[in-house]
Amino acid sequence: MLYQNHSRSFKENRYVYPVLSRRSKGISVGINLNPDKVCNFNCIYCQVDRNGSAPGISVDISQICRELAETLEMIKTGEIFLIPPFDKVPPELRHISDIAISGDGEPTMFPGFYEVVKEVLKIKEEWEERGHFPLVLITNSTGLNRPKVQDAIDLIYKNNGEVWLKLDAGSEDFHKKVSGSDIPLKVIIQNIKSVAIRHPVVIQSCFFRIDNSPFPISEIEDYCLLLKEIVESGGKIRLIQIYTVARPPREDYVSPLSQNELNFIADKVHELTNIPTEIYP
Ligand code: SF4
Repeated sequence: MLYQNHSRSFKENRYVYPVLSRRSKGISVGINLNPDKVCNFNCIYCQVDRNGSAPGISVDISQICRELAETLEMIKTGEIFLIPPFDKVPPELRHISDIAISGDGEPTMFPGFYEVVKEVLKIKEEWEERGHFPLVLITNSTGLNRPKVQDAIDLIYKNNGEVWLKLDAGSEDFHKKVSGSDIPLKVIIQNIKSVAIRHPVVIQSCFFRIDNSPFPISEIEDYCLLLKEIVESGGKIRLIQIYTVARPPREDYVSPLSQNELNFIADKVHELTNIPTEIYP
């Protein structure tokens, strides 16, 4: 499946990789700010291949800009659709749907994150005449309490972009088990609130089977309570993206949910929170 091909390697590029995205319904141009393949989470369902992880590799912002401009040009001229696997992209999806800052780790951990956002927005502005597409930040929410990251997020929204925030648990214990991190869930929620109070956000949540058991219902209920807490504190959640594992996860006891199970979760979340949900099986 073309949608399952989310390889972060494209040509000789080090940072910029186009993918056909289910979520954005077109070509999403990714920027990987973690070429060292290091993340401050260690999610049990993570689908990043950590072979070749090399902590401390530096990030070259001018190279990111070069690669981004070249990749956008290739999509716009159609040159990319002569190259496998993009030659299989259906005609109606052959457009740039967004630029997504994400990576093989948590992008906001890069100390030059604000500068990257500023430079990427400059390139995007040069492209505005040739079509609008937003800049999206995909984050695990851990770095959102840093003032410079908050400034970058304000800049993203000022330029009609958006932030997609990961939330995969309802309880501290489950969060710890899933994220493999000691950063408490209450810190994550506080960070999500800090953005959602200023801008409407998208929540991204991954649900899956553990040891072939269905996703725990109590965890879904607690997760909904957290979403309601964010909204009741003045946070705006535009959408909840519900997805499951699509590529081999880090732990082999993690497996995907069926379409019916995802439907059940999406309906339950909508019933308990009244927030729109979308499913990505
Ligand atoms: S936050 Fe993302 S990149 Fe980091 S371990 Fe979790 S799924 Fe993988």
